Amino acid sequence: MHTIESLSFEAKIQENREDSLRTLARETKAMNFSAHLNHPLFKSIGKIADENGQPAFAIGGFVRDLLIQRPCKDIDIVVEGSGIELAKRASEALGAGKVTVFKNFGTAMFRYHDWEVEFVGARKESYERGSRNPIVEDGTIEDDQLRRDFTINALALSLNEATFGDLIDPFNGLRDIENGCIRTPLDPDVTFSDDPLRMLRAIRFSTQLGFRIEDSNVKSIRRNAERLKIITQERIHTELHKIIMSDKPSKGFKLLDKGDLLHRFFPELSNLKGIEWRDGIGHKDNFYHTLEVLDNVAENSDNLWLRWSALLHDIAKPATKRFQKKHGWTFHGHEDRGARMVPKIFKRMKLPLDQKMKFVQKMVLLHLRPIALTKNQITDSAVRRLLFDAGDDIDALMILCRADITSKNEAKVKRYLANYDVVLEKLKDVEEKDSLRNFQPPVSGEEIMATFGIPPSKPIGTIKSAIKEAILEGDIPNEPVAARKLMLQIASEMGLKAVK
Ligand code: ATP
Repeated sequence: MHTIESLSFEAKIQENREDSLRTLARETKAMNFSAHLNHPLFKSIGKIADENGQPAFAIGGFVRDLLIQRPCKDIDIVVEGSGIELAKRASEALGAGKVTVFKNFGTAMFRYHDWEVEFVGARKESYERGSRNPIVEDGTIEDDQLRRDFTINALALSLNEATFGDLIDPFNGLRDIENGCIRTPLDPDVTFSDDPLRMLRAIRFSTQLGFRIEDSNVKSIRRNAERLKIITQERIHTELHKIIMSDKPSKGFKLLDKGDLLHRFFPELSNLKGIEWRDGIGHKDNFYHTLEVLDNVAENSDNLWLRWSALLHDIAKPATKRFQKKHGWTFHGHEDRGARMVPKIFKRMKLPLDQKMKFVQKMVLLHLRPIALTKNQITDSAVRRLLFDAGDDIDALMILCRADITSKNEAKVKRYLANYDVVLEKLKDVEEKDSLRNFQPPVSGEEIMATFGIPPSKPIGTIKSAIKEAILEGDIPNEPVAARKLMLQIASEMGLKAVK
């Protein structure tokens, strides 16, 4: 049965189809990109498609990236008729090796050099409201372009010999690429409501490519934001990761907020928004501060989890915010409370709960430590403790810490940066002297047990931690002879006698 929405959707498709056929006739004559398809792969596929009597096209993200000269290793080929047959014959002709067939999806792929080439029969799609999975039928190239999310993703290049390199651009995608514009081919309300993941994709592409999203599309995202509820957390975080890994991720988060989407899957981040004033004293807007820190980290590191740490470093500020007449706004303990919030957020977003999460927790917990060192005289022992707690992640922590220095007050930034440099120098010194980055106790539990002939018991822990403390305090150097001497001394105070 047709709903009102699906009827208007079909009418729109028909209207768009007529439009697109007109454009198609114009564009194919005018635009040819055969020079862009200079790899013999494309001619080979075209030749086999000709033998099969099948129209075949390179399509979608591959064509978009080709035109904007962005590296792309996935080639999507659409054919009218069976994509699987064409894939098998093309692989044989190219000597490409194994073809993986996904029967349920009617797709087949093979690897060729460092490309992944995927073949699919052109399809026509229609949607039901409760699902983002469409009902699929065989279709023409036109049908296939109509089901695509954005005009810039709906471009196709013909591979058949007679029309090799002709651009099929029914929705003016090329113009949108030139103007840096993201726009749906159909009514955005239909496109976004059918598959709400496209709202996140719009924002992701805008962030990755530095394109703007057309106004009507932004408004439509706001209208359809509530539809995000049918999207799984896994799909949401996959898009989110692409935003986080882009050059300037703040852009994506601002758009997610503007599109009324952010609070639906990441309320903790959205709660950082806003400035409260009391007695004429305001605090930073922690949302914008966090985004600045994220951009700063992105400039210096491609580590996804360090970028996550930037997003979460102040996440507990709303929960720990207090106003005191004497001190103004404080956020005492936000690093500790924030670290405790990390597992809950990761669990809800279906992010990994393994070492990656532990790393983020550690970064959030320690993010204040390097600069806090500078509040007092920076002692070697405080630096040793930081090195001990951060371990191998000390470099990542220092990147985060450096990124966290944001203020409109230039003098303040200058002062903090100078402090930061002092800590960095001191860390280098202490590390060279004491090699604490990967602290391994110089005396093991086994050695203590063997020396005093005792079973696993409390005194072993006591001795080990006394040795560790002495090293961190700088009372003894981090090496076995001194550690063994101290062990004997502590043990004798505890009444233990060496048996060997
Ligand atoms: P990236 O490789 O950066 O993830 P992409 O667009 O190149 O982006 P895919 O996400 O694999 O690659 O999508 C390939 C093409 O399939 C897109 O260019 C678009 O034409 C189409 N497409 C993908 N997802 C959707 C969707 N949710 N709705 C409509 N069309 C889609």
